[in-house]
Amino acid sequence: MEQPKLNKRYMAIEDHDYTRAVHAGMKIDESSGAVAPVIVTSTTFKQKAPGQHQGYDYSRADNPTREQLEVALGTLEHAAHGLAFASGLAAVHAVMGLLKSGDHVVAVDDVYGGTRRLFEKIWQPLGLHFHFLDLRDLHDFEHSLIEFQPKAVWLESPTNPTLRVIDLQGVARLTKKHNTLLVVDNTFATPMLQKPLRLGADIVLHSSTKYLSGHTDVVGGSVMTNDQGLYEKLKFIQFAAGAVPSPFDCYLLLRSLATLAIRMEKHCYNALAVAKYLESHPRVSSVLYPGLASHPQYQLAMTQMLGSSGMVSFYFDGTLEQLTTFFQSTHLFVLAESLGSTKSLMNHPAAMTHASVDSVVREKLGITDKLVRLSIGIEHPEDLKQDLNQAFEKACSGKNL
Ligand SMILES: *Cc1c(COP(=O)(O)O)cnc(C)c1O
Repeated sequence: MEQPKLNKRYMAIEDHDYTRAVHAGMKIDESSGAVAPVIVTSTTFKQKAPGQHQGYDYSRADNPTREQLEVALGTLEHAAHGLAFASGLAAVHAVMGLLKSGDHVVAVDDVYGGTRRLFEKIWQPLGLHFHFLDLRDLHDFEHSLIEFQPKAVWLESPTNPTLRVIDLQGVARLTKKHNTLLVVDNTFATPMLQKPLRLGADIVLHSSTKYLSGHTDVVGGSVMTNDQGLYEKLKFIQFAAGAVPSPFDCYLLLRSLATLAIRMEKHCYNALAVAKYLESHPRVSSVLYPGLASHPQYQLAMTQMLGSSGMVSFYFDGTLEQLTTFFQSTHLFVLAESLGSTKSLMNHPAAMTHASVDSVVREKLGITDKLVRLSIGIEHPEDLKQDLNQAFEKACSGKNL
């Protein structure tokens, strides 16, 4: 079998992205010379004559701080356009506004739980049809395109929490062939590690709450595209529906983006170290991390990503009681939902982030009671390993260790 071409730059963010992350959207304020972004809180702007404004009339439509953020978001994804929203789900909701009643959507079966809830509880009653599929099999995928003729395909890669990798170029080739919109939620990889627009996606979306913010202190969403027509429609939805972020949140995100490249480099480095440690631990039955050679799609991950990001999942080998003790015994890892923080976080998907997912679906997706999802932070990897090690020891009280 022919080996896929490995990305030589794997585990190495593109050189210029380090510079882009620092400078994207940054402009010196002309009136004061301020180097940091100016937070413009004004909701309204003085007009020279009725209808004659200087680019801003009302902050739901346009705001100077948000505009800076939107330029930065577009720049980092190497996209012509970026739009900022009040949350990741507000961004999802805006993109769904491109569709109409009767339209079909094919979505990856382990799509983010909140996205699935939005699709099933809000958009399905409005007349949209959703088909949740395992998009790793391109043959089945093309069959679904022929059968359902969807207007949009919605996917994440790597997925949450089982870190499956989907062939973005392969999917994009088929969505182009069948004239379907491809939307990729790039939250887990970030634009530093994966650029879906380059691989053929029409729209990229992020929960900016996660890695883009990186400090667990902003809820936000973003949408990027190169398509002028799609941008104009999405910009209109943003303005007309009004799910915009506050100028202060835009400022915080701009501040966060400056360190995105160096944070992602460290997240990748630490996650690989922790994943390797877990792989050799007797209380771990298996580890899910696209950067491990044991991951079933390791080769694919290496061709389409520049690093495997900071999310590591594993199956605990022990009783549920022991697992609870494990969760209660860490000092650095915080038991909390969400991900992408400078601080390491841990999550029990079956009881936390994925509790609302039907138990049969959960089992099918591999989200068992023994699955643990880690969001590896930017601490020192040895400290993280030590923290996990002492938690395993407490949980399993020395047995088999
Ligand atoms: C968190 C998350 C969302 C939703 O974003 P919010 O900012 O919480 O609204 C969407 N997709 C993925 C992959 C996420 O992790």
